[in-house]
Amino acid sequence: MASAARESKRPDRVLGAEQYDHPWEMDGPALPIVPVSAIEHYEYCPRQCALIHVDGIWAENPHTVRGRREHRRVDDHSQSRIERGKQVLRAVPLWSERYGLSGRADVVEVLEGGTIRPVEHKSGVRHGITADLQVCAQAICLEEMLDTSISGAAIWYGGPRRRFQVELTSELRRMTLQTVAEIREQLVDGVLPGAPNDARCTQCQLRHHCLPEISANSGRVAAYLLQVLPA
Ligand code: SF4
Repeated sequence: MASAARESKRPDRVLGAEQYDHPWEMDGPALPIVPVSAIEHYEYCPRQCALIHVDGIWAENPHTVRGRREHRRVDDHSQSRIERGKQVLRAVPLWSERYGLSGRADVVEVLEGGTIRPVEHKSGVRHGITADLQVCAQAICLEEMLDTSISGAAIWYGGPRRRFQVELTSELRRMTLQTVAEIREQLVDGVLPGAPNDARCTQCQLRHHCLPEISANSGRVAAYLLQVLPA
């Protein structure tokens, strides 16, 4: 089962789930839709999320290529079928007007009796609760789209080849909507967060675009700019 321990990246902004309801009704300019996929990027590193979803930068590394290869089957809607008595839908489009979300579920299972269960597929092993937040966002979309309630979801990890059950508690829902609100704020601000320049960077697909060793050090950034900009 999912553990609900997670530090907010914006502890000053921790609110109740109801605070994230209908973001469109907030004053101000039109608010951007948050892609469900951005949750994984934001949880990994807020700077990575901004590089991808604000600056539009994408790069592959061996991890992303392997993930895409292992994802081929769930990316193909034509692979939907009945399996062991349940309907298994693949590559299902998702949206929520209520929370301003859009995305795609790897798998949505329809069990006997009509129970709906989203299943997220990961090629590797479990890292914290990032995938729990993603699959919870998918469930939130499906609840609105299908006018139903969903109490559980699952994550399939290709590394150990095991399924992990996720209970969609009110706390997990609150954390998910809080993360979505933080990402939306990042999309609105358009500000690139500083580089943590830590162990995450060695595995990051955007390392060569981010230049974490330089961007984490403002003195080196200034020296670099002096070198490359005309006097
Ligand atoms: S290289 Fe490091 S700081 Fe830059 S986006 Fe990746 S994880 Fe974040």
